[in-house]
Amino acid sequence: MADCLFCSIVAGDIPSTEVLSTDLTYAFRDINPGAPSHVLVVPREHIIDAAALDSSHVATLSAVFATARQVAELEGLAERGYRLVFNVGEDSGNSVAHLHLHVLGGRRMAWPPG
Ligand code: AMP
Ligand code: ZN
Repeated sequence: MADCLFCSIVAGDIPSTEVLSTDLTYAFRDINPGAPSHVLVVPREHIIDAAALDSSHVATLSAVFATARQVAELEGLAERGYRLVFNVGEDSGNSVAHLHLHVLGGRRMAWPPG
């Protein structure tokens, strides 16, 4: 998708710090981390957001969650826990229109989120 920041990152046209790369997904460090470990997991396929998901995305979405679990293990978060977040729409603060799963950890999380 032209003019999509995360498609450009997946394509390697915009630099990123890779954490894990798989057939269907790419995981990289958030440029403005909100926790000691903050990784974004994106599908290589352009999907706008979680509200755009349908049954054609089952394999891709399963791969996104599998990558998130692997990222948590690589980052040393699996034992103590971590937070997974999809922001959808303006009130959530969503700022990039390419589906991304935030993997946040390395500190105690507050609830509810701000
Ligand atoms: P969201 O607010 O849920 O749309 O999340 C978008 C995330 O992308 C934010 O946490 C940003 O810090 C992050 N971000 C924006 N541009 C980049 C970039 N070039 N590389 C890595 N992360 C980015
Ligand atoms: Zn995209």
